[in-house]
Amino acid sequence: MNRTIRRLQSVRERIKIACLDAGRDPGEVSLLAVSKRQPTEQIISLNDLGVTDFGENQLQEAMPKQQVLANLSLQWHFIGVLQSNKTRAIAENFQWVQSVDRERILKRLSLQRPSTLPPLNICLQVNIDREPQKAGAAPENIMSLAALAQELDNITLRGLMVIPMITDDPAIRHGSFSKVKDLFEILNQSGHGMDTLSMGMSSDLETAIAGGSTMVRIGTDLFGRRKP
Ligand SMILES: *Cc1c(COP(=O)(O)O)cnc(C)c1O
Repeated sequence: MNRTIRRLQSVRERIKIACLDAGRDPGEVSLLAVSKRQPTEQIISLNDLGVTDFGENQLQEAMPKQQVLANLSLQWHFIGVLQSNKTRAIAENFQWVQSVDRERILKRLSLQRPSTLPPLNICLQVNIDREPQKAGAAPENIMSLAALAQELDNITLRGLMVIPMITDDPAIRHGSFSKVKDLFEILNQSGHGMDTLSMGMSSDLETAIAGGSTMVRIGTDLFGRRKP
């Protein structure tokens, strides 16, 4: 628990300093705790300390955890690769899906979202560096996906999510983030009213916040190293 407190304080402090350096209000940036391959005990500890939002990238791992933790009021974000045969369970068990990158998935999520639940919060994942092996929609396809999301009944389009290409060069990383930010602003200028720009992980949250992130997704620096 002590270690969890220290890690959380340190991440919150980094977010705060990054915001102040960027002339932003620290209240503008929320924290998504990425709990994939981490034990439920640590999720409970973080929730005791006020963390409410948790990210998972594998349905078969997330569902048993969600059952164990069903008595807590947590917001679950799906951040992994989406397969059509998993959309129903995701639409039924998550509050957010951040990795939507194609029409078929978007339509299925809306169709399969139970009408007893509020609309599913969606981020469109952008493959900003056009990496062939990576999930995410090409930047030129984001406009039409956003338009479709707007039409679907059981979906609320909240924003964009990005996992930029691997690099040690903060300037390259900054370039990727700023392209996503531009896209986000273009969409909002055309009336989309999105509030979430999900970018930044343990190693680059400062660069992401400087680039306009409103949600950082932190795994390692909150929980410690993941199980392999
Ligand atoms: C694992 C993961 C993270 C967290 O990465 P860390 O480097 O451990 O902070 C963030 N976003 C996505 C989509 C992930 O899969």
